[in-house]
Amino acid sequence: MGVSGGVGAGPGAGARVGGGPGPGAGTGAGANLLALRSHNTALVLDLLRGAGAGGISRLELAERTGLTPQAVSKITARLRAQGLAAEAGRRASTGGKPRTVLRLVPGAGHAIGVHVDRDEVRAVLADLNGTVVGERCGPLDAAGPGVGAQAVVEAVARQVEGLVPPVAESLLGVGVALPGPLDHRGGVLRRVTGFPEWEGFPLRDTLARRLGVPVVVDKDTNAAALGLAVARGDDDGGGGGGAGSFAYLHVGTGIGAGLVIGGGVHRGARTGAGEFGHQVIQLDGPPCECGDRGCVEALCLAAVARGETEEAARVLGAGAANLVGLLDIELVLLGGRTVAAAPDVFVAGVSAVLAARAHREGLPAGAVPVRLAPGGERAVAEGAAQLLLAPVFGRGEGREGLRAGRGTAERGLPAGRGGG
Ligand SMILES: [Zn+2]
Repeated sequence: MGVSGGVGAGPGAGARVGGGPGPGAGTGAGANLLALRSHNTALVLDLLRGAGAGGISRLELAERTGLTPQAVSKITARLRAQGLAAEAGRRASTGGKPRTVLRLVPGAGHAIGVHVDRDEVRAVLADLNGTVVGERCGPLDAAGPGVGAQAVVEAVARQVEGLVPPVAESLLGVGVALPGPLDHRGGVLRRVTGFPEWEGFPLRDTLARRLGVPVVVDKDTNAAALGLAVARGDDDGGGGGGAGSFAYLHVGTGIGAGLVIGGGVHRGARTGAGEFGHQVIQLDGPPCECGDRGCVEALCLAAVARGETEEAARVLGAGAANLVGLLDIELVLLGGRTVAAAPDVFVAGVSAVLAARAHREGLPAGAVPVRLAPGGERAVAEGAAQLLLAPVFGRGEGREGLRAGRGTAERGLPAGRGGG
């Protein structure tokens, strides 16, 4: 996982989206962020972000990262020189002279997150805090079966080129989220139900060449899960590991899952994890678009089509119960258009199945809670922006990705596990 294995840099990798400076001009903060390639810098940046406008002192940074004060001073001096950190005033300290506190400069870096849905393309421009500062949405032309991959490229480019950050050089890159399955590491699409023309298309490299900035491609469910993991980590006070282990179940025109295990998005050995919808729960059941029979997706969506939402929720609950039993996760979040049409019915229906299972098993902690995923229709696009932003702060990599002093200080901007 991570940018080291997932980024396709365009020629020169200089930000030139929207007619900005040409290749080679990428000397702004965005390019610098991608070039930092330091785990310790990610730790410092994450604490700076978590501290907000109030800032944090170098001494606190040293205490919380486990780095030496000298190392922290070196990192913060570089971040200030690059415009990524700034003084946020002085704070009285016990006994000594007042300490200078530092804060992140959110506008020093941006990422664009794009959600390619089956009939529309939504793009957001987010700053380093993940705050959305611009948004565009347009149709995916000639929607439905028959949409060629090149049409996706054009639709994405149209929205991206309309979202120019205040300083073009601050753009880290573009994250694109779309229905799976796909190869996250290579940025290549696989056989997506309903879009046979997409199979084998090198979307990441094609877009990187077209846009001239780094591009990361991931499944919509993984992007949403990453965005949720970052938000949950923030709620936990930052510092990583707070996101826990949860599943994001997406029910739209298809059904998929994004899995977060130990704070990190679990993509699996071939980045194909989370194909939740095509688990068979009824042998010899009704045919599914995937070619099998009795899949959760076929049964659930058929119930939705019949107007039997409670039955659809019960089917989804059966699949969720399998997932909870397999992975021992602590939370199930539901999202997607179909859920949004009847959120209470889906939350109650899935909860009931999980509660019945927990009761049968006599689990002391009770059933795993089920909640509506926050973020609404923008959740996937915001998560797609985090494909670029989260690695800068060492987020979305799990607990092991966020420890200082493990002898991996310069192992790369994101976790280097993704190979590449
Ligand atoms: Zn299926």
